[in-house]
Amino acid sequence: MDSVTESDPTLESDLERLNVQRDVPLATRNTFGFEARAEFLATATDDASLIALLEFAEDRQWPVFILGGGSNLVLTRDIPGLTLCLGDTRIQYADAPGKRVHVTAGAGCGWHALVVDTLAHGHAGLENLSLIPGTVGAAPVQNIGAYGVELVDRFVSLRAWHRPSRQFMTLGPDDCAFAYRDSRLKRERGDWIVVSLTLAVGGDTPLVTDYASLAAQLAKHQDGAITARTVSDAVIAVRQSRLPDPAVIGNAGSFFHNPIVKAETFAEIAREHNGIVSYAMPDGRIKLAAGWMIDRLGYRGTRRGAVGVHQEQALVLVNHGGGSGEELLVLVREIQGAVKDAYGVSLTVEPLIV
Ligand SMILES: Cc1cc2nc3c(=O)[nH]c(=O)nc-3n(C[C@H](O)[C@H](O)[C@H](O)COP(=O)(O)OP(=O)(O)OC[C@H]3O[C@@H](n4cnc5c(N)ncnc54)[C@H](O)[C@@H]3O)c2cc1C
Repeated sequence: MDSVTESDPTLESDLERLNVQRDVPLATRNTFGFEARAEFLATATDDASLIALLEFAEDRQWPVFILGGGSNLVLTRDIPGLTLCLGDTRIQYADAPGKRVHVTAGAGCGWHALVVDTLAHGHAGLENLSLIPGTVGAAPVQNIGAYGVELVDRFVSLRAWHRPSRQFMTLGPDDCAFAYRDSRLKRERGDWIVVSLTLAVGGDTPLVTDYASLAAQLAKHQDGAITARTVSDAVIAVRQSRLPDPAVIGNAGSFFHNPIVKAETFAEIAREHNGIVSYAMPDGRIKLAAGWMIDRLGYRGTRRGAVGVHQEQALVLVNHGGGSGEELLVLVREIQGAVKDAYGVSLTVEPLIV
């Protein structure tokens, strides 16, 4: 590791005072299970400890990396400097207009734990996003989405520490510039540390049940009324049948974005590739199913040493155990090259490569 520590007389006492751990293994803190280490790691439990930890690292000019659940990362190396986790897991509810409720959760809360809590309180809205791994703090970074709902659809505001101006700021939807698996927080990575997130749920929030695989799952249980809970159960059932559980086989969910192309480009590709799976976007462009393309090129189930493409899901890359981030990147480049050659489109990677 490129160590950041040299002779530093106050280091040991600061590490103890701020509860900073040294040389922390990260294999159980990233869902690929890749071996890597954090040179230093600490958890900020409140505003004061966040500021103190940042000052500690900034005084020494250390890099700072924010780690959530590690479910959207490819660790290819040890992380120098301070790896910072967010420890606030509180969930609070407040009345909002239109009989809705504003739920505010700390960045350290598990995303699915928040979904479960809102449903237990009788508030619909997050059910389609059930079982997405990771933390509340990371959810707005890539505007998580699944089964017809994106975070932006329920978003009210977030509170974040802005590192360049050294202050807490509250950002609304326009400030965050959310897009498909993207946001200003992602584009300005490193500048923002999300400490809490406020979403609107309950009241007249509509159930979204038209996503094909979700609708098919719901249709199997037509004996009762469709509620937020039955939608959540259906989403969980579909996810468990389609996505490998990171506790069993290391992965970061969908690995590539579905590329979006102009209608003319799509027409050309479709002429050559019969049956290509695609979705029309509201703006007239076409989203191509990256998994279909990878599958057609014969990569599903491919294995390169300890890493590979999942047997059932060509969009999911996996670590069978003992693989490394570097090994995975070799396969990633191979797949990107093959898709570019065959279809003329570039696949972009969803997880952050560290
Ligand atoms: C099996 C599986 C299924 C998945 N399914 C989906 C899905 O359906 N839809 C979807 O959108 N995603 C999905 N994902 C991806 C992933 O779960 C989400 O992107 C999730 O939001 C990542 O959260 P995390 O806490 O694990 O973030 P990490 O992987 O720890 O970090 C991701 C990025 O966010 C940054 N970050 C983390 N916390 C903060 C914070 N508090 N403030 C600022 N930056 C922060 C990190 O620095 C990093 O850049 C899936 C992943 C897996 C493994």
